[in-house]
Amino acid sequence: MYDSIIIGCGFAGAVAARELAEKKGQHVLVIDAREHVGGNCYDRLDENGILIHQYGPHIFHTNIKRVYDYLSRFTEWYEYRHEVVGKIQEKEIPIPFNLNSLEMVYGERAAHLEKILIDNFGEGARVPILELMNHENEELQEIAHYVYENVFLKYTMKQWGKTPKEIDPSVSGRVPVLLSRDNRYFQDTYQGLPLHGFTPIFEKMLDYEKIEVRLGCEAKTVLAIHPDAKEPVLFEGKPFHGNIIYTGALDELFDCCFGRLPYRSLRFDFRHYDKEFYQSHGVVNYTVSEDFTRITEFKYLSGQLAAKDTTIVKEYPMPYSGKEGEIPYYAINNKENDALFNQYRALVEKIPNFYLLGRLAEYKYYNIDAIVDRALAMAEQM
Ligand code: UDP
Repeated sequence: MYDSIIIGCGFAGAVAARELAEKKGQHVLVIDAREHVGGNCYDRLDENGILIHQYGPHIFHTNIKRVYDYLSRFTEWYEYRHEVVGKIQEKEIPIPFNLNSLEMVYGERAAHLEKILIDNFGEGARVPILELMNHENEELQEIAHYVYENVFLKYTMKQWGKTPKEIDPSVSGRVPVLLSRDNRYFQDTYQGLPLHGFTPIFEKMLDYEKIEVRLGCEAKTVLAIHPDAKEPVLFEGKPFHGNIIYTGALDELFDCCFGRLPYRSLRFDFRHYDKEFYQSHGVVNYTVSEDFTRITEFKYLSGQLAAKDTTIVKEYPMPYSGKEGEIPYYAINNKENDALFNQYRALVEKIPNFYLLGRLAEYKYYNIDAIVDRALAMAEQM
């Protein structure tokens, strides 16, 4: 029999599985409804031999050394330094909006504005746009207004269906106004892409004698969860008293009995071109025009060389309705939704040895490094 059953085989599930098997000597079963490992980090070669991220661009970055060290056991790295530009009419300005962007927008006035920014916030500061907007200095307000209108407003309306002021401030705070000339999207110490892609990391992590993986397996076909029953967890019809780590959408585990938890979804439009490169950077954000939010050109991310082939993806955000084939990508954190989530969480808190882990199950906006760190900590404590 298994000591732990893990539902979902993205970073949350795979790291927890490896840790429980390797450090605790547990016999672990990992199941996933999809036919592949890796969750939304899954990547593969497309029909033209270009490495693509099937569920949208994933770029690893962290300041947490133990996370970098841990993943480095399973991969070497391509030292990709992610740079994003925002397409504003004919200009392509660095995002996060930084001192180079300031110069492109304000020309000769930029030096004067730069001084005001630095006098107020300090060199290298990361200022959330909503904070900059509240500043009383008129020239700072003018910059904030420009950045809000040209970088945040339309992109956020597309991504979330709401303005930056209407969503949780931590979301727009992910992409601050950056008071430096560093054009990288992330300033973390460790950043890059796995040299051979994400999928091999998962294959290596799960290739361990005490780990069994069942793909194409819907949790509900093997597990029955009834929090108030004498035996709250049945696995293949029999009581199960080991650990359950659930990484999927929590409402769906309970047939959405309190109503659906809102998530944002995306539709991906992949295109192939018979040329070396399609655009100037790995990611171009369309911050003032178009229905899609951004275009990713994968060859920049992977460093793959191909003289006459390149693949891009456009991301069209949409609400998640739960329809077959749709995928929930982002929790929509606000008071009301978090309260609904807590109702579901209260159900599993009644079940001994039942753990929630990951973006979906914890209804949180985790980056890769944060969830790897949390999976390591959770396995350690269990
Ligand atoms: N954002 C924006 N314009 C940009 C980039 C980001 O308005 O050019 C806002 C938007 O609300 C987005 C959030 O900042 O959802 C976080 O962006 P990030 O790039 O971290 O999103 P992710 O890559 O996780 O989708």
